[in-house]
Amino acid sequence: MKFDGVNKIENGGGSKNRQEDNKMEKIPENVEIAVLGGVGFNSYQEFESRLVSTPYGEVTVYLTTVRGKKVVVIPRHAGENHIPPHRINYRANIWAVYSIGAKRVISTNSVGSMRGHPVGSFVVLNDFIDFTRNRPSTFYDDKTVHVDVSEPYCPEIRIALRGALEKQGLPYTEGIYACTEGPRFETRAEIRMMNQFADVVGMTGVPEVSLAKELSLCYASLAIITNQACGMTTQKLTADEVTEVVGKAQDAIFEIVSDTIENIPETRNCRCRFAKDGACL
Ligand SMILES: [Zn+2]
Repeated sequence: MKFDGVNKIENGGGSKNRQEDNKMEKIPENVEIAVLGGVGFNSYQEFESRLVSTPYGEVTVYLTTVRGKKVVVIPRHAGENHIPPHRINYRANIWAVYSIGAKRVISTNSVGSMRGHPVGSFVVLNDFIDFTRNRPSTFYDDKTVHVDVSEPYCPEIRIALRGALEKQGLPYTEGIYACTEGPRFETRAEIRMMNQFADVVGMTGVPEVSLAKELSLCYASLAIITNQACGMTTQKLTADEVTEVVGKAQDAIFEIVSDTIENIPETRNCRCRFAKDGACL
C-alpha cells in the first residue's frame, strides 16, 4: 500500500523524467504524520521537497523532522500564485498523504468567528457543516461508498491538540466548523443563518476532512481565529487582516503542532482506521 503514488505515477504516465521518479523513490517509508496547510511552517520552502504523483495531479510535499518524527508538510495554497480555496486540489493532497504512507493528518485552518472568539485564539474542530458547492468531494465516483462521519475529527489527535494548547497556556475552545465555497466572504444574512448551528466559518476544511475519512486516515484540525465573521462587528472584512493574524501566530502554531506531533500515540487506537467498514454498497 505504501508508495502507491509512485506506482501510480509510473503507470499513469504522470512522470516527466527519470529524475523526478528518483526524487519520489527517496520519500522515507516511516513518514507517519502530515501537516496540511503549512501555517506555522513558513520555512517549509527550505525543506527537502518531493513531487508526489496522484491520480488527481501532482503534489509537492516538504519533508522535515519534528521532535524526532518524520513529517511531510503540504502547503494548501502553494504554487506560483496563492491557490484560492475553491481551486485547491483537495483530492490530490489527501491522496498524496495516503500514498506516502502517513496515517495522521494535522490540518491548520484560518477561520472567522461567529461566536465572538478573540482574534488569535484557537478552536479544535469537533464537527462540520458543508456549504461548499463546486468541489469534487469523494474518491468514489465509480462505486457507492457512504463513509461514516459521525466522528469526523480524530479523537486521538484532538486530545493531542488540546494537550498542546494547554501546555502552551493558549486560549482555545472546541467547536463546529461551517465551510463555505468562497472565494468571497459570507454575507451578514449567511452568518446569521450559520451561527445558529456552527461556531466558526472557513473555506478550506471541506472536503479535506471527509476525503481523509474515505482513506481511513486520522484527521484533525487546529483552527485559528483570524477575524470576526461578517456582521459580527461594524468593520469591513479584509484578506489582509487574515494574513496579518496568521503571520503573527506562526510561532505559536509551530509550537502547538510540534507538541501535538510529540503527543500523538505511536499506534492508532481510535476508530478512524475502520471508517470504511460497512460503507461500501
Ligand atoms: Zn484517528
